[in-house]
Amino acid sequence: MTRKATHLTATGRSAALVEQGAAFMELEGRRLARSGHGGAARGPASTAAKQETFDVVVVGGGQAGLSVGHHLARHGVSFVILDAGERIGDVWRRRWDSLRLFTCARFDGLDGMAFPAPPDSFPTKDAMADYLEAYAARFDLPVRTGTRVTSLTREGGRYVAAAGERRFLADNVVVAAASYQAPKVPGFARDLDPGITQIHSCDYRNPGQIRDGGVLIVGAGNSGAEIAMELAPRHKVWLAGRDTGHVPFRIESALGRKVLVRLVLRGLFHRVLTVATPIGRKVRPVVLSQGGPLIRTKPRDLKAAGVVRVPRVTGVRDGLPQLVDGRVLEVTNVVWCTGFDRALAWIKLPLEMENGEPRHERGVVSGQPGLYFVGMHFLYALSSTMIHGVGRDARRIAEAAAARVTTRQAA
Ligand SMILES: Cc1cc2nc3c(=O)[nH]c(=O)nc-3n(C[C@H](O)[C@H](O)[C@H](O)COP(=O)(O)OP(=O)(O)OC[C@H]3O[C@@H](n4cnc5c(N)ncnc54)[C@H](O)[C@@H]3O)c2cc1C
Repeated sequence: MTRKATHLTATGRSAALVEQGAAFMELEGRRLARSGHGGAARGPASTAAKQETFDVVVVGGGQAGLSVGHHLARHGVSFVILDAGERIGDVWRRRWDSLRLFTCARFDGLDGMAFPAPPDSFPTKDAMADYLEAYAARFDLPVRTGTRVTSLTREGGRYVAAAGERRFLADNVVVAAASYQAPKVPGFARDLDPGITQIHSCDYRNPGQIRDGGVLIVGAGNSGAEIAMELAPRHKVWLAGRDTGHVPFRIESALGRKVLVRLVLRGLFHRVLTVATPIGRKVRPVVLSQGGPLIRTKPRDLKAAGVVRVPRVTGVRDGLPQLVDGRVLEVTNVVWCTGFDRALAWIKLPLEMENGEPRHERGVVSGQPGLYFVGMHFLYALSSTMIHGVGRDARRIAEAAAARVTTRQAA
């Protein structure tokens, strides 16, 4: 039986790939040869139905995965980028409607391609999504969309990334889907009165989803603060959670855009706050447990908008959210801005854990040769999950993976 499946590649073209037999090998080999990522000889060697082999498999085709792909291509190794989404950039498209990046366009480009907007402007989330799609097309990156990896195992010394019935074999796997993956909500959320509308920030789109009455926003990081500002003109809003600090200037001001943002993003977040500096090592656990500082919104903005700051929510009483100080809030909506889990359960490999995260050295995973992370919070620096910061980690990991490929080929 010959089964056909449609793959949307980075260039947006649809190609029916026959997944068994010579036709598949020929098509895929030609595609790789065109894109210069290893060529037909080093491309996928289909040994069994729905099985392909590459030097490197990258899981995740957001900014982190595309960045890794860009650097891998320069080393001439064969690789594929597997992404669960239907379209490159969908993670950004799904974010709330009014979202504008807090980084100006000057800091929104990945290596090799500037963001196509005035450098001091703040792009919309849809413009960011389109940029990622254009980036993949520009460098002809071999992205397989609609391909969620459901397990990563090791067989016969090789990694096997399985996506449904497909198997992708490689000596090297880069996990570029390690932060912001599964919405995190405390267990007591289920005890809230069913009449209260609950929504996580990843599902929040606009005020139309919020019912009449008060809104409790749980989590006072950047998402919580920005959503609070959006809802405050129409609702009584409480913002719960500890103060994570804030950048002490207006990013939109002329001085902010031209000078201060550069100092903070490139100086502080990228060069100073890294695992290589004593201050960076001190700040890292705080950022990992509490989140980074507010970048656009200031505490005085929240106050002026009438947002009431309250301490942490620790439970539920009589169906209503209860604060750590015992107070109960009578609200009709709760917006959980409580962050994300890494959701790495699909990695069925023994990972050494350290402080709740897989142990790694700048993304090189301990005890699993050839396994890497890119895009994780504070992987190397505070900028590691940011658009302008991910390229440095991606380049380093691509070099490490390519060096392993070369060593094994020589052996
Ligand atoms: C609301 C919000 C606003 C932000 N604004 C900014 C900003 O202004 N400036 C800035 O620099 N940073 C910003 N960030 C931080 C960061 O840039 C983004 O979160 C960015 O999306 C992270 O990119 P990523 O590639 O690491 O992960 P993601 O964008 O989450 O991409 C991961 C990809 O992996 C795929 N995937 C996940 N699991 C699997 C699997 N098992 N198999 C296959 N594919 C899988 C997903 O489909 C997704 O496409 C913001 C973050 C948030 C949450």
